[in-house]
Amino acid sequence: MTSISYQKGLIDCTREELVREVEKKLSRERFKHCLRVEETAIQLAEKHHEDVERAAIAGLLHDYAKEHQLADLEKYSDHPDYDPEWKKWGRSIWHGPLAAMKAQRKLGLHDDEIYWAIFNHTVGSFNWTSTAKIVALADYIEPERDFPGADDVRRLADQSLDAAIAFKLKHELTHLIETEKPVYPQTFNVYNHWHQTHQKG
Ligand code: GDP
Ligand code: FE
Ligand code: FE
Repeated sequence: MTSISYQKGLIDCTREELVREVEKKLSRERFKHCLRVEETAIQLAEKHHEDVERAAIAGLLHDYAKEHQLADLEKYSDHPDYDPEWKKWGRSIWHGPLAAMKAQRKLGLHDDEIYWAIFNHTVGSFNWTSTAKIVALADYIEPERDFPGADDVRRLADQSLDAAIAFKLKHELTHLIETEKPVYPQTFNVYNHWHQTHQKG
């Protein structure tokens, strides 16, 4: 079980306060997903000698806004990182950005690496920090995730964060196309950027 206490002043609350806040805003099932992502993120950070506290906070908070309404998003239209295009794509695309902006404004999150890891956890970015990789992967491989190859990615993520991210980018884009979903431009651009910067041979 998770036993972490926040010590770096990255956010103005204790873990217990943050857990209660996330629990208040989500269904039981999604709240438990957030706890599993937190735990998986901690394990990945420990294994790869990365920042455990950043991974834990970002993991716990990543889906904080997943059950918020469009009206909640619109309250942030004055935020410098707000993109009016999000509305056309729906909650699956804007829940990460809203969670990050709300954590910053309402929960006292003042750490950029955590902010952007939450912001981009669904679609990725051109500037992958270790925390961003860990949260995206923890979300993908937390113990209740079940898809063909899930155990292969779990093993891959233990060996190399980059190898597991490469797997996720490829398989998620393929899955979107196979299920005839539109691909959000950043999803596609992130895939291309990764490909261009991690060429083999
Ligand atoms: P979750 O919040 O734990 O369910 O996981 P994610 O935040 O990773 O994903 C939320 C949803 O967004 C998933 O159903 C993805 O398939 C979907 N998604 C991710 N990228 C895109 C995209 O480019 N286009 C569309 N249409 N959906 C996407
Ligand atoms: Fe999400
Ligand atoms: Fe999630």
